[in-house]
Amino acid sequence: MKSPKELTKQGIIELLIKLVNNNSIRKVAIPMIDNKVRKLLDKESDTNFPAEKYAHYCFFHNLLKNVDKRIDENLIAKNVQKKLVKNLVEHIIFNGAETRVQAYEQEGREIPTFLVIGPGQKCNLKCTGCYAASHKGVFAKLSWDTVDRIMTEKEKLWNSYFTVVTGGEPFLWNDNGKDLFDIMEKHNDQFFLIYTNGTLINKKNAQRLAELGNATPAISIEGFEKETDERRGKGVYKKILSAFENLREAGVLFGISVTATRKNAETIVSDEFIDFYYEKQKAIYGWLFQYMPIGRGIDFDYMITPEQRLYLYQRGKEINEKQGYDYMDFWNNGYMASGCIASGRRGGYLYIQWDGDVTPCAFIPYSPVNICEVYKNGGNLNTVLEAQYFKDIRKWQKRYGYLKNKEEVGNRIMPCIIRDHHKEFCEITKKYAVKPIDKPAEEALHSEEYHQQMIEYDKELEKLLEPEWENDFVKAGNRFKEK
Ligand code: SF4
Repeated sequence: MKSPKELTKQGIIELLIKLVNNNSIRKVAIPMIDNKVRKLLDKESDTNFPAEKYAHYCFFHNLLKNVDKRIDENLIAKNVQKKLVKNLVEHIIFNGAETRVQAYEQEGREIPTFLVIGPGQKCNLKCTGCYAASHKGVFAKLSWDTVDRIMTEKEKLWNSYFTVVTGGEPFLWNDNGKDLFDIMEKHNDQFFLIYTNGTLINKKNAQRLAELGNATPAISIEGFEKETDERRGKGVYKKILSAFENLREAGVLFGISVTATRKNAETIVSDEFIDFYYEKQKAIYGWLFQYMPIGRGIDFDYMITPEQRLYLYQRGKEINEKQGYDYMDFWNNGYMASGCIASGRRGGYLYIQWDGDVTPCAFIPYSPVNICEVYKNGGNLNTVLEAQYFKDIRKWQKRYGYLKNKEEVGNRIMPCIIRDHHKEFCEITKKYAVKPIDKPAEEALHSEEYHQQMIEYDKELEKLLEPEWENDFVKAGNRFKEK
């Protein structure tokens, strides 16, 4: 048998596939891999604080432990296990990372790790405050050819094999007789994370996901039955529970997606909540999105208070680093990605909406460029990256401390240009003739009252989160050594 040093990448992939398929080898190998990763991460680097490295390790450790547990429970189909190794490890981690580093170091070009695509606006629910339901009238959608071309180009130009699908409801999208399953089948080397309301995951669709093996659905919930049905509609919670059951039966790895609002902030990080969704329903991961006051009916009363945000941060740390579950807050966990990942930054993404408008991220509703127009004019995905608005946001990310030495890094618990640094966001956005993606976004852009409220919010937030950042990251010792 070859020593680990002699193994090629292909050898490692083959070894990992054997490992997931053999229980006794897996039980021996997992602690060894865990320890190796721990040692690798426990190294000084100029751009990361030891506490960030420790958080990265905890994420990996939880994932490894919980996937192992689900394999023991017979809840991950063989094909899903294989695709996790092939697509996630081989294509996304190994090959993709190399390409991005090379493009940056040799050509000074930033290329994103993934894209978020909302192929269709159509949704069968009408949730309070949903940005995707802002448009009125006919449901817009991207054509099959456009989605297919985007998928092909991201592989060819960026070596990007990770795609996030959102909506509307992704499972409702179809064009020319083809749907999301056909995209996943055609682009079988990619791995898809699908944000879905879960209501269309019946036994047949769950089985199809298991057979394809290259997707994980993150199902939206708002708390328990009361909170979920209140925002999403009566009876939705029960449909979600049957979607979980169908996914477990078929052997598909799944997670939860939660919107934090002023009403549910405490519930969604309670021990009862974590136990129910992770231990009883068997979710592997969770994403937490804080309600953003933009889109249909801007409602500041729905937005969590700065105090609730602090509470979410503190509870999130316990859940991820002590309780052993991966539950990532898109804002408070900014340190997991060295800050904001918008605008096609290396390690980050761009968002493409159902009408082709491309925005820096799913929460910034302003677009400098439309992919359908770019294609008509002979361009490609690289043309999109060249939009000056995107470049300016990437410059802001650098100024804020992405890739800078530790002494120059800004608070990564408040990494968000639109939400946490709204003043700077306005300065950059108002310089360009960017297109608001809907009416509320247009109103917000021209409303001084709206901007003022956001800026005041940021000031309050800074008072609460700056001491946490100082204490937990800047002054914190090496957490690896504390264990
Ligand atoms: S702009 Fe905000 S929401 Fe968008 S990627 Fe950056 S931190 Fe996340």
